[in-house]
Amino acid sequence: MTRDAGDDETPVVAATELEELAEQASNLAQAIDEASARLRAHADDSSKAGWRLDEAVGAARGAARELAAAAGDLSPEPGSSNCGITWGVCPDHGKTLTGTAGRSWCRRPGCGRSWHYDRASLPCTEPIAFEVRTPRGDSTAMCRGHAVAALELQAGITLDPVPPDVDAGPRS
Ligand SMILES: [Zn+2]
Ligand SMILES: [Zn+2]
Repeated sequence: MTRDAGDDETPVVAATELEELAEQASNLAQAIDEASARLRAHADDSSKAGWRLDEAVGAARGAARELAAAAGDLSPEPGSSNCGITWGVCPDHGKTLTGTAGRSWCRRPGCGRSWHYDRASLPCTEPIAFEVRTPRGDSTAMCRGHAVAALELQAGITLDPVPPDVDAGPRS
């Protein structure tokens, strides 16, 4: 099975890295919470600083939650591999995304897909569906949306379907 030599399966950001960050954020939330409790025990009026600490606890907990969710997004299903192209697409329609203020959606009428983040600027995590070959003979494994986009962006592209359950490659 041919694969781009420079583009192996090492992710730019590993799920475990995000899990560690989530743990740090959660420890931070706890530490701020404790500081806030100490402040309240020793300061008569729970001053502006106290309110700010409460805000900080909430923000740190939010960060922990988002990081944990992001780690879940990144950890691939066992036995399957993900597209990994560095920009996002609509899984059905390809390069049809538009967005504003951190939200994004597919422009294709009737699609109706939308995301609460800027999907177009994030790496693709859809499962591999096609081996996409250019006329020059380059070949890249891509998800369906990226294969659709490749067909539209470049003439002479050919697609070879990749069965969903195929392993990352023969290992022996
Ligand atoms: Zn769409
Ligand atoms: Zn993709």
